[in-house]
Amino acid sequence: MSVESGIPPFRGPGGLWTKYGEPPMNGYQRFLADPAQAWRERLSPSRPMRELWETLRTAEPNSGHHALAQLESAGILRCLITQNVDNLHRLAGSQLIEEIHGNYTLIRCIQCTSRFTREEIRLEALPPHCPRCDGILKSDTVSFGEPIPTEVLARCFEETEKCDCMLVAGTSATVYPAAQFPIDVRQQGGQLIEINPHETELTAFAAISLRAPSAVVLPELAGRITQLRTA
Ligand SMILES: [Zn+2]
Repeated sequence: MSVESGIPPFRGPGGLWTKYGEPPMNGYQRFLADPAQAWRERLSPSRPMRELWETLRTAEPNSGHHALAQLESAGILRCLITQNVDNLHRLAGSQLIEEIHGNYTLIRCIQCTSRFTREEIRLEALPPHCPRCDGILKSDTVSFGEPIPTEVLARCFEETEKCDCMLVAGTSATVYPAAQFPIDVRQQGGQLIEINPHETELTAFAAISLRAPSAVVLPELAGRITQLRTA
């Protein structure tokens, strides 16, 4: 979804890590060992991170994001699970979102998991502390080595259990836990619709595979479905 809004992927050709090398895999452990230092690095980022922040700050939702928001407001899409941290689904108007890797515009308490906007938190003294429970605050973006917040994951499994048709757009869905959701839907008798320019491991399980970028297919799909609804 995000690549079509100009946000580089992490891996593969043109990927950030491909270009600058993989970041340390123990980001969360490093944060816990010295939160103040992690915040200093966050506030004066290295070149690859600076490049990423700048791209995120200026990126805009594409027609795929808008189509999903349209399906939500029509009452058809009941939940959107994303691994993207870029906030573009929210900017497009989606509200029923579970961001399993967090949201880069937010700050989260590692103790009580409350989330705050950047504007709500003063960053003079590092690390900042939670206004609710005084726990240490970190970026909401899930770091390497950091568990996905349990309440987010619980809501994803809850929504998956209710799902009779899952649209899997622009992901090969091979990384756990996201990989589990479409499998669960199939096992409980629901259908999968895959949107991906390439064949993936899910293709064999999908009722329908649409071979095109999501920014192309989703608006058409949303248009036809909402038309059927009103017909
Ligand atoms: Zn807290």
